[in-house]
Amino acid sequence: MRRTKIIATLGPATDQPGMLEKLHNAGTDVFRMNYSHQTHAHHEKRTNELRELSTKHKRAVGIIADLQGPKIRLEHFNNGKVQLREGSTFTIDTDLPPNAGNEKHVGVSYKNLPQDVRAGDTLLVDDGRIVLHVKEVHGHEVDCEVVTGGELSDSKGLNLKGGGLSAGALTAKDKIDLKHAIKIGADFVAISFVQNANDIQQARKMLKAEDSNARIIAKIERSVALDNIEEIIEASDAIMIARGDLGVEIGDAGLPPVQKRLIKMARDMDRAAITATQMMESMIDHQMPTRAEVFDVANAVLDGTDAVMLSAETSIGNHPDKAVAAMSRICEEAEKQRLVQVSDHRINLRFEAIDEAIAMATMYSANHIDAKAIAALTETGSTCVWMSRISSGIPIYAFTRHERTRRRVTLYRGVYPIKFDITHTDPLEANKEIINELMERKVVSNGDYVVITKGDLRGKRGGTNNMKIIKVGEALEHSL
Ligand code: PGA
Ligand code: MN
Repeated sequence: MRRTKIIATLGPATDQPGMLEKLHNAGTDVFRMNYSHQTHAHHEKRTNELRELSTKHKRAVGIIADLQGPKIRLEHFNNGKVQLREGSTFTIDTDLPPNAGNEKHVGVSYKNLPQDVRAGDTLLVDDGRIVLHVKEVHGHEVDCEVVTGGELSDSKGLNLKGGGLSAGALTAKDKIDLKHAIKIGADFVAISFVQNANDIQQARKMLKAEDSNARIIAKIERSVALDNIEEIIEASDAIMIARGDLGVEIGDAGLPPVQKRLIKMARDMDRAAITATQMMESMIDHQMPTRAEVFDVANAVLDGTDAVMLSAETSIGNHPDKAVAAMSRICEEAEKQRLVQVSDHRINLRFEAIDEAIAMATMYSANHIDAKAIAALTETGSTCVWMSRISSGIPIYAFTRHERTRRRVTLYRGVYPIKFDITHTDPLEANKEIINELMERKVVSNGDYVVITKGDLRGKRGGTNNMKIIKVGEALEHSL
């Protein structure tokens, strides 16, 4: 059973009839809706489809609403894409209508571009796939020479090499989109081009004002974010190592050490980490990954990532479901390494809350008694989040009556949601029912150890205060 979670990005390729269900069945845990593309109505329709699938297959899936942020994008071409030839002149023109792009010029969403760039600068398009050399800036036009050409389609991102283009993280569009994400009940919102903790706090305030407890993912994709990384992680619930834009700003060779450092920091601070971008890039066209991609996914698992993410592979790829399936089998195999099953997490720290202490004691006990499963009766899922920060091979089942909580834990490594309503259960029967549920799922059988955590007060959040070790097959009548 795979512990690392898989995030798939929705797009035209997943809108084909039946594809969403194929992605679901291939093991996608969380679906990402990219608010850089498509309309609100479209996102809403996809959400409804996902919720229907979830009901049909009785399996919780999470939804990320990924806000565009101040990403600078080229506008559209009059027929969807162009071929840029090396050595030719290509002009970025802030006055050009949005759909008027062709081989000679294209519009851009960022009207200050001519003020921010000068002759000699290098502009990187589509995560650096296309390289433009700025020759001359005059008025609303930036004339470039194509240094590295290729096919260029609508709405691709534009970066200035070395950084320094984007404005504050939450744009006017993001604020409107955030409200929509709340309305459709997104489980996570991803904030793009985060610069500091203030960006996250601003988003958190907006969520609170709308009575939403959606979790916040900080996308780390600017070099300035690395300077403020500790406060950003502290302020958010999860981080995404957004290797596409980040690699453009800090250089590709800087990415591997940053990925390792950030995943470790996030785990140490009880936050989740997502590794993103180009993990299976060749599978946009091909049915199997390259060896290098196999290693990339496996290495992210060894680094301790909670989730690995697919972007273009699923949104515009030719084999979205195969990309998920390949990722899944690579994760499972990597997780068998001993390295990812032991932990010294927070071993020297004091715990701040009773439920955190119980969570830590549970993992220590479970790892050392070789328990087959951990069952956490939880309201918000936070006990499970703490537990899953500890490297372990033991599955953590989040038994909860709340659909929101079941959807939220989909992101966390080694945590699996189970629908269970403690308030409708005789407390003297609860342990028995939990064990029965795990036996029905063939997770445990007679003689196995299961560690159960719960609180005295049923249905109270933050109330976990006890842990019980049960040997499957023992009489459980009237066991508290
Ligand atoms: P994006 O973010 O796909 O929204 O650009 C991820 C990244 O930059 O890597
Ligand atoms: Mn990005």
